[in-house]
Amino acid sequence: MRVRRPRTVAGLQAMVAGGTRVRALGTGHSFSRIADTDGELISTAGLPPTADIDAAAGTVTVASGVKYGDLAQRLNAAGWALANMASLPHISVAGACATATHGSGDHNRNLAAAVRAVDLVTADGSLLTLDRDAGPARFPGAVVALGALGVATTLTLDLVPAFPVRQYVYDDLPGGELTGHFDEIMGAAYSVSVFTWWRGGRHHQVWLKHADGDPEPRTGPGTRFRVCPRTRPRSKKGCPARGTSGCPISGSASPRAPAQNSRPSTCSPGRPRSPRSRR
Ligand SMILES: Cc1cc2nc3c(=O)[nH]c(=O)nc-3n(C[C@H](O)[C@H](O)[C@H](O)COP(=O)(O)OP(=O)(O)OC[C@H]3O[C@@H](n4cnc5c(N)ncnc54)[C@H](O)[C@@H]3O)c2cc1C
Repeated sequence: MRVRRPRTVAGLQAMVAGGTRVRALGTGHSFSRIADTDGELISTAGLPPTADIDAAAGTVTVASGVKYGDLAQRLNAAGWALANMASLPHISVAGACATATHGSGDHNRNLAAAVRAVDLVTADGSLLTLDRDAGPARFPGAVVALGALGVATTLTLDLVPAFPVRQYVYDDLPGGELTGHFDEIMGAAYSVSVFTWWRGGRHHQVWLKHADGDPEPRTGPGTRFRVCPRTRPRSKKGCPARGTSGCPISGSASPRAPAQNSRPSTCSPGRPRSPRSRR
C-alpha cells in the first residue's frame, strides 16, 4: 500500500483515473479498517485548505481534508459556526461526514446532516457535484458513503451564526440514572455527551453544553438526575475505584466547566466552578 497526496484537484483526478484499488484517506482516525486498501490510499490533505463562506446562502464550501479544529476557528473569526462539531479537533471534515460521525443528545444530528453538497472525483477521474437541494433524488447516500463513491474534494456545509456555549461537566452518573432518565438527560441541553470507562456501573462524565439564552442548569437538591459529587482527589490513572461505601449517590449535581473540550482522562473534584463560554 502507498499513500499519495495530490496538491491539485487535476492531479487527484489523474491519480484516481490511473490507479487501481484506490481508497480515500482522511486523518486515519477511524479505528476500523474502513480506510484500508491493498492498493493506493489517496489523502486530500495536500489540496489547498480552502474554506469559502457564502454569507447569503449561509454555507461554507470547505476542502475535504480540512480539520474541524481549523475550520471552527476560521468560521468563528468570520462570525459563523457549525451547528455541531466533531469532539476531536484533528479529524477531517470528509472522513467524519463519510462515516456519519455522531451527533450529541437529542438536538444535534450527526455531522453528515450539515452537508448541503459534495464534490467528488469518481472512478474514471471525472468530477461530480451532488447537491441536496438541486438534485434531491441523487443526494441520499452520497455523503455517508464510506469513501465508496469517490474521493470528495470539497463539501458544502450549512452554517449558523457564531454563538457562545457554556459547558458543564457532571461526574459519576450512576448507570441506573442514565437508563431511568435517558430521554430527560439526552434532551437536557443543546448538546449532551456521556462518557464511560465501562467499569463500576457508572458513567464517568456527562457533558452538557448550553447555548446562549438557554436556562442555567439546576444544581441543588431536586436536580433532575442524580450524580455523585466528587469529594476525593482523582488518581492519574482515572477515577478511584468505588466500593459500596465509596461514593453515596447524592441528590445534587455538581457542575463544573472543563478546561477544554477533550475526552476525559483524569478525574476532578465535583465542586462547582463558574462556567466558561466556549464557541
Ligand atoms: C471507536 C470510535 C470512537 C470514535 N470517537 C470519536 C469521538 O470521540 N469524537 C469524534 O469526533 N469522532 C469519533 N469517532 C469517529 C471518527 O471521527 C470517524 O471515524 C472519522 O471517520 C474520522 O475521520 P478521519 O478524517 O480520520 O477519517 P479516516 O479514518 O481517514 O477515513 C474514514 C472514512 O472516510 C473516508 N474518507 C476520508 N476522506 C475522504 C474523502 N476525501 N472522500 C471520500 N471519503 C473519504 C475513508 O475512505 C473512510 O471510509 C470515533 C470513531 C470510532 C471508530
